[in-house]
Amino acid sequence: MWWCSLNNELRVNMGEKAHQSEFAERVSSILNAKYDHKPRAFVHTYGCQGNVSDSERIKGLLWQMGYEFTDNAENADLVLFNTCAVREHAEDRVFGNVGALKPIKEQRRDMIIALCGCMMQQPHIAEKIKRSYPYVNLVFGTYQAHRLPEMLYRVLQGKRVFENAEEKGKIVEGLPVYRDRSFKSWLPVMYGCDNFCSYCIVPYVRGRERSRKSEDIIAEARELVENGAKDITLLGQNVNSYGKGLDENINFAELLKKINDIPGDFVIRFMTSHPKDCSKELLDAMADCEKVEKHLHLPFQSGNNRILHEMNRKYTRDTYIELINYAKSRMPGLAITSDVIVGFPGETEEEFEDTLSLIREVEFTSLFTFIYSPREGTVAAKMPDPVTHKEKAARMQRLLDLQEQIAAKRTAKMVGKVYRVLVEEADEKGILTGRTQDNIAILFEGSDNLLGSFCNVTVTEAMSWIVKGKICQ
Ligand code: SAM
Ligand code: SF4
Repeated sequence: MWWCSLNNELRVNMGEKAHQSEFAERVSSILNAKYDHKPRAFVHTYGCQGNVSDSERIKGLLWQMGYEFTDNAENADLVLFNTCAVREHAEDRVFGNVGALKPIKEQRRDMIIALCGCMMQQPHIAEKIKRSYPYVNLVFGTYQAHRLPEMLYRVLQGKRVFENAEEKGKIVEGLPVYRDRSFKSWLPVMYGCDNFCSYCIVPYVRGRERSRKSEDIIAEARELVENGAKDITLLGQNVNSYGKGLDENINFAELLKKINDIPGDFVIRFMTSHPKDCSKELLDAMADCEKVEKHLHLPFQSGNNRILHEMNRKYTRDTYIELINYAKSRMPGLAITSDVIVGFPGETEEEFEDTLSLIREVEFTSLFTFIYSPREGTVAAKMPDPVTHKEKAARMQRLLDLQEQIAAKRTAKMVGKVYRVLVEEADEKGILTGRTQDNIAILFEGSDNLLGSFCNVTVTEAMSWIVKGKICQ
């Protein structure tokens, strides 16, 4: 299932948009003449929801140029990887997958291979691709995606194209968006990050924070709801600082209220929040807006103040816990999820134990856990790091065991209760997957016509991370 739309034409940077539309038409005629079938694109996305959302816009442009989409890279006419640079592991996978395309490209010389996203924004990576992967046709960074028609046109003229210049402060509205599912949608509210956490590459590859105008966001949200969206996630690296630098006087709490006021049966989520900018005003807005799911994703990264300081996080363990306690008091039953890094340079056993004690105190619904990965160009990459990877992996296992016990305690309490869930997946065996308001997956039997609709489900059995249930008649 898919749909494609052009959002909010009036807000478009018309010069750029018209320029790219012209190239889109040229590409489309070249592709028509070149293939006796509709050209097929394989688009694979690595990393976070921000990348998934960018890929929806890239796919919108490809669709506009006449491409259809395939899940099989081997028979694709265009293979595009939208890459992630947050950890070394993600980068290694990209290099591995690009390497695997070499024999296919040798058989099919006119296959176009394109790489984009955060990894490609790093000059040393773009250089490595240029030198060591001569069969890659197109490389572009995070600022250039809207120029895809023009870049593809040059590739079709036989050129090898590398474009990863930084373009400060630019947001191009009005790009077509291709969504695989109409009922669950990502909606970016801002781009970039100004925080420079010492371990993180994001500010270097995504640039400074820039917010979309609220009227553009609200127009897109309305359009999503009109097209059947039931679950809208507002996206940004730090949504709490939404509004900075805009001419209008608005913050994220006010934006949330405006989206909550859009008529329709849908729910609103948002990520990610930074504890230093997460205000009580925002938590109050969350509590008061009936469409906002009572689920807060608030990354803490470490439970130790010295490590938090070294990470440049600008909050302490106590201020984090104070926020959590306030949020729990305003929203009883609130689901809290978080990101945590194990093995930051110089983290001692005692400092790691502070992370475990914070996890015990907050009782997170679930955690995204990462072993620290040095990123070239960041401050932390230059810090001494005496702890071995083996020791870091052992700490990670202890953390996962603890979190599993906490999650199991929570899911056990769900048995016998009824939850309203949005059906998000259906498999061929007739098992549906829905998510509770607090983001726990419930598996239950039912017809796939229920996909994209809300159902009431009684929980019958708890596992550690997920539960099983039965539709209420
Ligand atoms: N902006 C979000 C925030 O501040 O919470 C998160 C964005 S980042 C893409 C997602 C998560 O990746 C971070 O919260 C952090 O836990 C993890 N991460 C970022 N850089 C990392 C690194 N160098 N090594 C390990 N994990 C990292
Ligand atoms: Fe990275 Fe920190 Fe920005 Fe999140 S807030 S994207 S962790 S620099």
